Amino acid sequence: MKILISGASVAGPALAWFLDRDGHDVTVVERAPALRDGGYAIDFRGPAFEVLQELGVLARVRASATGTTGTDLLDPDGNRTGELPAEVFAGELEVPKRALTRILHEHTARTVRYVFGDSVDRIDQDASGVRVGFERAEPDTYDLVVGADGIYSVVRRLVFAPHSEVIRHLGLSGAGFSTANHLGLDHRGALWQTPGRAVYMLNAGDPQRVFVNLSFASDSPALDLLDRAEQERVTRERLAGAGWLVPRLLQDMSAATDFFFSSACQVHLDRWSEGRVVLVGDAGYCAAPTSGMGTSQALIGAHSLARHLAAYYDHDKAFAAYEQELRPYVSENQRIGREGARRFGA
Ligand SMILES: Cc1cc2nc3c(=O)[nH]c(=O)nc-3n(C[C@H](O)[C@H](O)[C@H](O)COP(=O)(O)OP(=O)(O)OC[C@H]3O[C@@H](n4cnc5c(N)ncnc54)[C@H](O)[C@@H]3O)c2cc1C
Repeated sequence: MKILISGASVAGPALAWFLDRDGHDVTVVERAPALRDGGYAIDFRGPAFEVLQELGVLARVRASATGTTGTDLLDPDGNRTGELPAEVFAGELEVPKRALTRILHEHTARTVRYVFGDSVDRIDQDASGVRVGFERAEPDTYDLVVGADGIYSVVRRLVFAPHSEVIRHLGLSGAGFSTANHLGLDHRGALWQTPGRAVYMLNAGDPQRVFVNLSFASDSPALDLLDRAEQERVTRERLAGAGWLVPRLLQDMSAATDFFFSSACQVHLDRWSEGRVVLVGDAGYCAAPTSGMGTSQALIGAHSLARHLAAYYDHDKAFAAYEQELRPYVSENQRIGREGARRFGA
């Protein structure tokens, strides 16, 4: 089949590898002009390892491990009050997100066609195929279209429902970026919390640098759609008056070249497919960063979808079996995501 995948992060390239292996003609379209450099670390748990193994990238992913040894818990003055074991934030294996994305892209780029800097902007389907319009490229027709384009999936918005109907905000938002290693952390995280505010820092190997996440209780995912200047303004406003290193980190935020902003949100849909269009990863069933399961879920989802397409050769049956297999796993991850948001002060 001729298959279009929207999104080149985790679910998209992983699915592309399986579909290409199974003899399909695969194109991946990515809105960003190049691979994105998400400035945070992601982790793997449970059956995700089997998927990495089958993809043939487990050794390379292991070689990129952050080697985090645990997280120091800090009181409002920055004094250490205890620690969390490494597994809580780092799972069984933790790597910088950019490392995973690069590995998956390099692993697939020779056989899968990647188009950067473009996006689907129209989808019309009938029993024989899906006609897709793009912002830049000429329209084309595919047998299947897969939305692997994250929480604000354009495929989902065009085919399933507007964002406001399917995205549930968990009451937590935050800015992330990398900066100087002010605390001299060594392969370690530090978590500072006061009611409704949290700062998480992680040294993932480079002795000079840390990933930082400044989060705060919020009541709307609309903050995600603001521009950077506005997101910085809101972050400053919500963390105003906080002591310890926070004023310094707020200054660092403005200078960061890898700034991003995201809210803890989940995606809840009654169905993950509509005709010849199907969703995978955060686009279909985001469990929120607070679950620590998003990456594992994206990989396991891609694997399940590809396996069922290979088994059935009929996309309706394959999509139904994929959804039936994955729903219980996703529901549990979403429960963990809600609990995690409460722990972070939502
Ligand atoms: C701050 C933060 C911390 C996190 N920590 C963890 C963690 O510790 N453990 C964990 O497992 N997970 C974590 N996650 C979640 C994890 O990053 C995601 O669950 C995972 O990346 C999902 O992969 P995905 O491929 O489904 O979607 P995404 O990684 O969101 O990728 C979607 C891709 O689609 C692209 N795209 C968007 N719109 C379009 C369009 N219109 N056309 C084409 N392409 C488009 C995007 O540019 C992106 O490349 C965290 C997330 C955040 C934000």
